[in-house]
Amino acid sequence: MSLAQHMENTLNTRNNGLGDRSLYFGASEILSCEEAMYLSKIEKISKPRTLQELIVLLKGNIGENLVEWGFGEALKFEGQVECKGTGEYAFITAHADFMVHFPLESIIVEVKTTNDIPDSIRESWYLQVQVQLGLLGLKRGKVIAMNLNSGHHAEFDVSFNQLIFETTLQTMKDKWDRIHDENTTIKGKKSALCGYCLFKLQCQTLKTDNLLPDDVEAMAIRSKALKKEIKILDENIKAFMLAADYERARGKEIVIDMPRRSSGKRVDANKLKLLYPEIYEEVCNEPSYSNTMNIY
Ligand code: SF4
Repeated sequence: MSLAQHMENTLNTRNNGLGDRSLYFGASEILSCEEAMYLSKIEKISKPRTLQELIVLLKGNIGENLVEWGFGEALKFEGQVECKGTGEYAFITAHADFMVHFPLESIIVEVKTTNDIPDSIRESWYLQVQVQLGLLGLKRGKVIAMNLNSGHHAEFDVSFNQLIFETTLQTMKDKWDRIHDENTTIKGKKSALCGYCLFKLQCQTLKTDNLLPDDVEAMAIRSKALKKEIKILDENIKAFMLAADYERARGKEIVIDMPRRSSGKRVDANKLKLLYPEIYEEVCNEPSYSNTMNIY
């Protein structure tokens, strides 16, 4: 067994301290896809993750470690503070990454790792902290977002809002009731996250139509625009290289290679087929299929 396989097995069975997530509605799941929740909590479909997926998933823990080290000894804090709903909301359990105690108040600190730090707080982060604050009876929280690759980071403040707290609890209850109601048709939410979803093979929502969700369409539009821009940039660079007759040129940070290559002689497949059909059949391969993508 390779070390990577050993790590994959160990990390898949590691106790993350969050208990059996199929038995409660976590605050980080407020905007989660309903079908994914149904398949994991009701159908209890579980699939071990690959090491690659685990590394991405566990980046969050590395972020928490960084924040904890950053708090140091000067701040009084508790990690992974569990809070539960009561009465009709007893199905809700939240785990705040940190509760930091100052002389006059305690605040929640939630840590998020992302490659795309937004300008303003994401809705799912905001609602998660609202639920944590409401369940713990606190007034203020913070989200620290960090990009572990670039080191960029941002800090967002959240002030408790009773109305948003109550509305969010009701939304969670409606969702919880729907996934437990045998007579309800579960509707998933297609998004870019489907590409990484553990349940994409079982998912019915993906099979209902071939419409693009808004976030994937936005990516495709951006990709198309960038390709157009790249094409124009490349044409301008090539024009300069040809004008200067350079095969290689060096900038302050970049080197451009543009060796002159002859395309060499090519077999005319149509002519070969016409004149020597037996040879054509003999040398012809079965067609192969690849996932080439074109965006129009
Ligand atoms: S593939 Fe997408 S729609 Fe289906 S369960 Fe997963 S997240 Fe939901």
